[in-house]
Amino acid sequence: MSVYCPALMYHRVVPDTEQPDGISVTCGAFARHLAWLREWGYRSVAAADLAAALDGGQRLPRRPLILTFDDGFRDNLTHALPLLQQAGFGALVFPVVEFIGGRRAFGKAKGEPLLAADEIREMAAAGVEFGAHTLTHPHLPALPDSQARSEIADSKRRLEDLLRGEVLALCYPFGEFGAREMDLAREAGYRCAFAVRRGNRHWPSERFRLSRVWVNETTTRRRLAYRLSRPYDWAARLRTP
Ligand SMILES: [Zn+2]
Repeated sequence: MSVYCPALMYHRVVPDTEQPDGISVTCGAFARHLAWLREWGYRSVAAADLAAALDGGQRLPRRPLILTFDDGFRDNLTHALPLLQQAGFGALVFPVVEFIGGRRAFGKAKGEPLLAADEIREMAAAGVEFGAHTLTHPHLPALPDSQARSEIADSKRRLEDLLRGEVLALCYPFGEFGAREMDLAREAGYRCAFAVRRGNRHWPSERFRLSRVWVNETTTRRRLAYRLSRPYDWAARLRTP
């Protein structure tokens, strides 16, 4: 039995005065997404709930959802969290452990501030869930075994030390993974792992390569409704089996 639980993929939430890029949405767009999701009856669930549903032991609400945030930008606290709280949604944030308290060192949004340890604890106290996004955001499949294992397992342990609680979910940097990375995630004790492939339903065999729903600044109400529908999952599976 597959489990319906769209995991929307966000990175940054920026002020309306900023020009959004490929990994950011403005507060205005984000608030719109949340208002639609609320209107349609969606409710946030935790990674543990999804994992338990995949085990077959737990029923989810009729319209469950997980709002995920990759890379752990500080704006997740300053801009996303107030809007999430207003709309009554939770979030699952994936910081890169070595970069906690620092600045983005690569790619888009280079130089942007990242969440610090006390900010992560503050968000966790407010009900935000955290998952690991490795130690250094490497291209995992290119690493030797020992290094890939350390990126996956040590990031879990260090985030658990910071949070004084269990970290259940992993998110693969750049969405890159193979059979080895899925094995390492299982071996490290994660209960699920998120990829970047598209889709909104999950089979138990896919718990270490969970698909996500892509959203950005220009996502319209109609397009978001489609991406939360069954045909989107079918179409995504045809494209990337
Ligand atoms: Zn990332």
